[in-house]
Amino acid sequence: MSGALLEVDGVSVSFDGFKAINNLSFNIFAGELHAIIGPNGAGKTTFMDIVTGKTRPDSGEVRWGDDNISLLTKSESDIARLGIGRKFQKPTVFEDQSVKDNLMMALRNKRSPFAVLFYQSNKEDLEKVETIAGEIGLSEHLSRRAGDLSHGQKQWLEIGMLLSQDPQLLLVDEPAAGMTVDERNHTVELLVEAAKTRAVVVIEHDMEFIRNLDCKVTVLHEGSVLAEGSLDAVVKNQNVIDVYLGR
Ligand code: ADP
Ligand code: MG
Repeated sequence: MSGALLEVDGVSVSFDGFKAINNLSFNIFAGELHAIIGPNGAGKTTFMDIVTGKTRPDSGEVRWGDDNISLLTKSESDIARLGIGRKFQKPTVFEDQSVKDNLMMALRNKRSPFAVLFYQSNKEDLEKVETIAGEIGLSEHLSRRAGDLSHGQKQWLEIGMLLSQDPQLLLVDEPAAGMTVDERNHTVELLVEAAKTRAVVVIEHDMEFIRNLDCKVTVLHEGSVLAEGSLDAVVKNQNVIDVYLGR
């Protein structure tokens, strides 16, 4: 009993004999903001693939929630329904729909097929969409075509679409890539805000971004945890300097 929301326990996976994840163990706690850093190929994205059911590990266990449900036997859609939302690097919004309709569709999505069938745009849903638009900084853009948004705005819209499904855990892979400094700063604020009501795990290379998140950091290297702690602590760790920062 770790009390963790997500428990990764001794997980390994090989691709063509190469151990991408090597006896990886670490926990994510409810409501925490948690950054994952590490060199290219360290296994960061593969970790998210395993948690979301996209990749099956060769060994180990991944447990979720108070009931310690094993995620390894669940489908990707079951895992999403259990409350794990994932943001990919490339935004996947519906370009021809408005910002509002994208958020509305994401909101409907979490309901049963029966509820969707008899769906009517009601006041409550509109309010929720407006609240989320405020959280992601797109209140002034609700009627715009999503395809006309900037790269950063599309990323925020996709985060908003995930938030509308009320995940307990949000996984975000390299959100700052391709963003301007202002967009990156807004993304930090948005993720910090999102982590007030759910756990948020962020993979990122940009050290300034990680510093601004001001959260627990796990350093991955060759598929295992190399160090964990505050950013100040891990950047002083000699192993981290040797394999990651010193190069
Ligand atoms: P990171 O996100 O830390 O840069 P990845 O998790 O993407 O690293 O990749 C870890 C290693 O596993 C890399 O060597 C990568 O090429 C390999 N890898 C990841 N996914 C697959 C896959 N589906 N098939 C084969 N090799 C993969
Ligand atoms: Mg990656």
